[in-house]
Amino acid sequence: MANQYIKEGYMTKKSINKRTIFSPDNFKARWFTLDNVALRYYDGSLEKGKTNEKGKVEISSIKVVEEVEDGKLEGKLNTFQIGFHDSSEQHTLYITAQTDDMRKDWVQAIRDVCQSQGVEFDLKYHSGVFQRNLKRFNCCDQINKNSPGCQPTFNQPENARKQNGLAGSSTLSVRDTPLPPIPPNTPARDPRNSKTFVIALYDYQGAADGDLSITKGEEYEVIDNSKEHWWTAKNKKGEKGYIPANYVEVVTSTGLESYDWYHKNITRHRAEEMLKAEGKEGCFIVRDSSTKGMYTVSIYTKESGTMVLHYHIKQFNDGMFYISEKFKFPTIPDVIKYHKCNSGGLVVRLRSPPTGTSQPSTAGFGHDIWEIDPTELELFEELGRGQFGSVKRGKWRKNKSVAVKMMQQGMMNEDDFIDEAKTMKMLQHENLVQLYGVCSKQRPIYIVIEYMKHGSLLNYLKRQRGVILKKPNKLLDMCLQVCRAMKYLESQSFIHRDLAARNCLVGDNLVVKVGDFGLARYVLDDEYTSSSGTKFPIKWAPPEVLGYTRFSSKSDVWAFGVLMWEIFTGGDMPYGKIKNQEVVEQVVHHGKRLEKPQACPGEVYDIMMVCWEKDERNRPGFAVLENKLANLSDDDYCS
Ligand code: AMP
Repeated sequence: MANQYIKEGYMTKKSINKRTIFSPDNFKARWFTLDNVALRYYDGSLEKGKTNEKGKVEISSIKVVEEVEDGKLEGKLNTFQIGFHDSSEQHTLYITAQTDDMRKDWVQAIRDVCQSQGVEFDLKYHSGVFQRNLKRFNCCDQINKNSPGCQPTFNQPENARKQNGLAGSSTLSVRDTPLPPIPPNTPARDPRNSKTFVIALYDYQGAADGDLSITKGEEYEVIDNSKEHWWTAKNKKGEKGYIPANYVEVVTSTGLESYDWYHKNITRHRAEEMLKAEGKEGCFIVRDSSTKGMYTVSIYTKESGTMVLHYHIKQFNDGMFYISEKFKFPTIPDVIKYHKCNSGGLVVRLRSPPTGTSQPSTAGFGHDIWEIDPTELELFEELGRGQFGSVKRGKWRKNKSVAVKMMQQGMMNEDDFIDEAKTMKMLQHENLVQLYGVCSKQRPIYIVIEYMKHGSLLNYLKRQRGVILKKPNKLLDMCLQVCRAMKYLESQSFIHRDLAARNCLVGDNLVVKVGDFGLARYVLDDEYTSSSGTKFPIKWAPPEVLGYTRFSSKSDVWAFGVLMWEIFTGGDMPYGKIKNQEVVEQVVHHGKRLEKPQACPGEVYDIMMVCWEKDERNRPGFAVLENKLANLSDDDYCS
């Protein structure tokens, strides 16, 4: 029988969230079909084809069929968008194809069907997406979800002026003016065939069958980015395999990714810690400034006392870059090259970037390693004991440092945990302790996680309190790191339920990571799980948890305020020796709150206080808290 569809295939779609803006975003693989009436999507798999219809977009309702700029939809490549109207509301369906060629084919096919049906397309569209947490589009900073687009759609005359498929002018009235320069971070494409390339930021030694080893600084072609953490890529020899998505950076028009001194997403404070740890005169990095679109050079020097200085790289109207006005160059690498030979106004000349930067964790050891073979684990000394039993330092396959939690039997609901832990493995953020996998075929079960050199944050604070309480910037940076991890968990609709300094860990360069997320749900001990139990973390719990056991990201926000307080007291016990019952009485019924720690600036205490709003609806989310903390951390002050 002849195929009744114009086109069909397997792609990933983002949830449309028509009914409520509060339902979480999710991405699902779906089987798509296109006919003259609708674009439909079904449950299904590559092997079995399609099964139940899950939804459709009528061709007659379509208004926009455009690509999404690579990287704009949660870092994904090869995404396109279908804008459509239903009962006077507009929605956008985002679909990610496996390759750029497939994306182009689908876009063309849908446009053709629309045009054959006389569809009138909108004049403008957004090449990025609306970010709910930041409440703005990431292509044009417009803050209204329904604001008109910022780019002319494909059938507008302005598109004749588009170059290499990149964004054109943002208004329709400037037909004769030249195109603006290519914005930074626009993915570079090979003009001949529109492929997407990435640069490896770190070495990765393929660990599972089907993984591809990658080498820092080398370029790879991305073939499929539909899986969140493991992309399929091809090296120059044509070998294909999975690579960790967080080990590569999409090559942009600036080309900075290929320089070892460029660290895109690093804050001022992290840069300082990294350069101080290296401790070499003239050691430097270039990073994205917190002022959007600008770059900063951070340099370590002992010239007048040990310090790290920060300089903006500025740009003249003619496009030339400079640090010191007298020495201007066409590109940032030229500026760096010059200042490597001449101080030219800098405190010292630039020498080399730090060598000791540690690699981020991957989501699992390889793309398909979840169950870990215990014979590949070596166990060493005990790092500590916690709720579930002993934690030991270990090595996997003789080279990867890990921590192994040996789960004391009877302490947790093991089957439920093992099920859930597969999802937890996919949670990945630079400030979350990475879960690598489990040894679940033996008793006790082992949970294998990232090793954090300095152990728990609570003990670290207590050990270092004499020194650290004198450095409010360091304390603020710790809060900011935890906040970023929590913002990520919130964006994944994942509730921690036991956020506290004892459940965070400290690694190299004062990196703080949140651990034990979600584990509280699997504890079998009533004393820990019931809010009237003796082990329940009452001092970190908000009124709605104490009263109705109502956990949410907003109950995590309350706990985050208490964690900030722990940080600014150097690890004191909240409410001192006051008994739990008395704390509940004072906090819930008399509106009492923890007092301002001595080392804590008023503005920081204000942030804690908003975390402790009695009504959870008045507490800000973690994205807002991150903004508040980042503003205080003076990230953009330059020499
Ligand atoms: P927990 O069971 O998570 O409460 O851990 C008990 C103790 O083991 C902590 O207080 C830390 O000192 C230590 N520990 C736990 N996880 C790690 C890790 N990933 N790296 C280093 N030390 C750890």
